[in-house]
Amino acid sequence: MANLTTLLTTLISANHILHYHSIVDAYGHVSVRHPDDGSHFIMSGNRAPALVSSPDDFVTYQVSNASAVEPDAPKGYIERYIHSEIYKRFDDVNCVVHAHAPDVLPYATSGVPLRPVFHLPGFLGTEVPVWDIETIYNETDKHDMLVRNERQGGSLAGMFVAPENQTADPATSAPNRRVVLMRKHGFTTWGPDIETAVFRAVFTATNARVQTDSALLRNAFSGMSGSGMNMDAWASTDGQDALYNNDFEPLTAEQAAAAQSSNDGTIDRPWGLWVAEVEANPLYKNNG
Ligand SMILES: [Zn+2]
Repeated sequence: MANLTTLLTTLISANHILHYHSIVDAYGHVSVRHPDDGSHFIMSGNRAPALVSSPDDFVTYQVSNASAVEPDAPKGYIERYIHSEIYKRFDDVNCVVHAHAPDVLPYATSGVPLRPVFHLPGFLGTEVPVWDIETIYNETDKHDMLVRNERQGGSLAGMFVAPENQTADPATSAPNRRVVLMRKHGFTTWGPDIETAVFRAVFTATNARVQTDSALLRNAFSGMSGSGMNMDAWASTDGQDALYNNDFEPLTAEQAAAAQSSNDGTIDRPWGLWVAEVEANPLYKNNG
């Protein structure tokens, strides 16, 4: 992990990049584990991510219960328990992103599974689970879909481990799932560092867009055959019919794993572009 000053500058950029790419709007948040004290994590106070501009905008929280370290800390995000419980459970997690990206939301509402449909989101693996907070509400919980306490955050954190990877001591389980959808709410992802978590958030949304467009295109195209479209004229003349007629399918397990391994070494490239994009936009100020 980088030193604190560098890390906070990067965290400001992460807030801006997530907004620039329509992952967060006024809502949604990114946090980082404290580089010098793993029992603390840092995230913006109650502020739209695009407007985070200075290290003074951040609040340091306890991983143990998501309370602010400083007693006079400004108001924070309600859903900081998403972050604290993931840090609590997984030592290897150093950054968490939670958002309600409109491109991803259809997969948290429709019952259609989200799967990687091209190589860059290979980190999605073979299953993106859907967590439903409604199933864990007790008599006193407010049914507003927000993750408001340790119990709810802990339940979400548990979804980052596939059932077959649960061990006798769940606290030692590594998170083998990178993204969890939250029914009627949004999604959460993590990374070993800020750059990886932001990469996963951005490409989760890109994948969702491409999957939706692919499904719509396929359905529209096949539906045209009964609406005056001459399908024979679209037949292949170059022997590609078998390829055109392929089933619409996500990456296989082998493709997803191999793609992730190849992509993991390249995250510096999009990160450099994304920082340059937000630095060139006067909306975003980084006084880190
Ligand atoms: Zn939320």
